[in-house]
Amino acid sequence: MQFQRLRLSGFKSFVDATELRIEPGITGIVGPNGCGKSNLLEALRWVMGANSAKAMRAGGMDDVIFAGSGGRSSRNHAEVVLTIDNAERRAPAAYNDSPVLEVVRRIDRGEGSTYRINGREVRARDVHLLFADASTGSNSPALVRQGQISELIAAKPQNRRMILEEAAGVSGLHTRRHEAELR
Ligand code: ATP
Ligand code: MG
Repeated sequence: MQFQRLRLSGFKSFVDATELRIEPGITGIVGPNGCGKSNLLEALRWVMGANSAKAMRAGGMDDVIFAGSGGRSSRNHAEVVLTIDNAERRAPAAYNDSPVLEVVRRIDRGEGSTYRINGREVRARDVHLLFADASTGSNSPALVRQGQISELIAAKPQNRRMILEEAAGVSGLHTRRHEAELR
């Protein structure tokens, strides 16, 4: 699965609709301090289901919504759309009738967030499993936050194991085993 495009609207500093095309190969984002480079990576994690305020550098989840600045008033919702090339049909079987996947996460102030895949409302879990199976989860070692390397070095063995399991692509299996045991 190849990420093709990230679209943001009202997410953190990206109050206006913004689109980032992700071509094959390396995509670099450069800009002065505070211009929103880290916010872009956070938008990617967020649409992939990241649910910790810490990963979003936020106090609460509503903090990802544009809070107002430079005379622009705050927004009441934020939306991020991730377009994925599924030409090789690497997504879970349920989505494999489609060569392109569009994952949408939207948050409304005070109401939490909703997810859609190709226009159909899905659970957070469906989004987690979509990416867990492709070993590209929002905690994937492919996404390295600023300061994360030093955190990794200082991590407890158990936390380090979670990172390794995500890298090996088995964390989705853990989720399903846990659910099977509850039945
Ligand atoms: P650096 O080079 O220092 O790492 P950066 O390009 O990664 O900078 P970010 O951390 O992505 O910059 O962006 C920080 C900016 O985003 C700050 O100006 C901050 O005020 C703004 N910001 C963060 N959350 C929101 C929000 N909810 N509403 C409006 N602006 C926000
Ligand atoms: Mg940064």
